[in-house]
Amino acid sequence: MDRVYLSPPDMTALERDHLLGAFNENWVAPVGPDLAAFEQEFAAAHGVSHAVALTSGTAGLHLALLVMGVTPGDVVIVPSFTFAATANAVVYVGAEPWFVDAEEATWNADPALVAEALDAARDEGRRVGAVITVDLYGQCADHDPIRAACERHGVPLIEDAAEAVGATWRGASAGSFGDIGIFSFNGNKLMTTGGGGMAVSNDQALIERIRHLSTQAREPVLHYEHTEIGFNYRLSNVLAAIGRGQVQRLPAMLARTREIREAYVAALGDLPGVQFNPLDDRGEPNNWLTLVVLSDAARCTPLELIAALEAANAEARPAWKPMHLQPVFASERMFGGAVADDAFARGVCLPSGSSMGDRDLKRVIDAARGALS
Ligand SMILES: *Cc1c(COP(=O)(O)O)cnc(C)c1O
Repeated sequence: MDRVYLSPPDMTALERDHLLGAFNENWVAPVGPDLAAFEQEFAAAHGVSHAVALTSGTAGLHLALLVMGVTPGDVVIVPSFTFAATANAVVYVGAEPWFVDAEEATWNADPALVAEALDAARDEGRRVGAVITVDLYGQCADHDPIRAACERHGVPLIEDAAEAVGATWRGASAGSFGDIGIFSFNGNKLMTTGGGGMAVSNDQALIERIRHLSTQAREPVLHYEHTEIGFNYRLSNVLAAIGRGQVQRLPAMLARTREIREAYVAALGDLPGVQFNPLDDRGEPNNWLTLVVLSDAARCTPLELIAALEAANAEARPAWKPMHLQPVFASERMFGGAVADDAFARGVCLPSGSSMGDRDLKRVIDAARGALS
């Protein structure tokens, strides 16, 4: 009985052909034709005009904060309900993360709390370097009111779309809602290059700045000339080749993760105390992970459900632990918190990988139904 993972890589002969193509042409190099093609094809798939491929989503967040002019001592407003990388990048640039709670409808940053945090910073005479939104579990945040609040305060908006390749909101793509959008191709994300990331924007100058900083800030002269501190954050051509295959297969992967969510809802939705991560019908999520959310009426606890899936050799995990509950961020400012606390206490991520076959899906469903009936 093979282990079923939450979101393993979904690779086919197409990705292998791209990879071997790069290898056979000796483009095992820091640059190459696949890198530029991957950027163009990924940008086109997300309706943005410019993209730069990086070693990780975290590297993208780091450089996005730098090019948006965030400086030490700034405040950066961040959702508490996210993966630590979002907040870590804020600390890399010497800024202070101020956390806001999620809203019920999407589990993403509550626009009212973002506005409240912006007002509080102004009243206290603090400069806000940026607001970062997160498209959690592959569902876009409600960016319109957040964007409006940012514009009122003259604060840049960075969209952490690390989990949201291929998702849309009112027809526009994840990654297109901020001044800069960031994606991740880590091995556990819906689309992967083993490790990697992308920064996207409709502002070419911002992307060129990120490209410059990601390649050690080398000035365009023959000798090695540097006028500022750079980073080694560029994706390799070999990994970009894998990414090109993944972009081609993205529609099929999205169709499968959606089918998996629908199968869970159909098979478990009638059980007492069982709900799912909230989806807002203004958006079309990528269903990177489907979560069940258990109330007191459920026949088992979240930890018992995880144990039952483990007994069937299937991986399940609690929802992200909010940043304001993390020891490393315990002293940071927090606005609200009840929604994220509750989602963490009651949410369980189910295996949702686009490569999961029907037999494995049935095994997971049977184990979950057994525990929850
Ligand atoms: C995965 C993830 C990141 C980090 O991406 P890496 O490519 O792993 O560095 C950042 N933010 C969120 C919300 C993520 O889920």
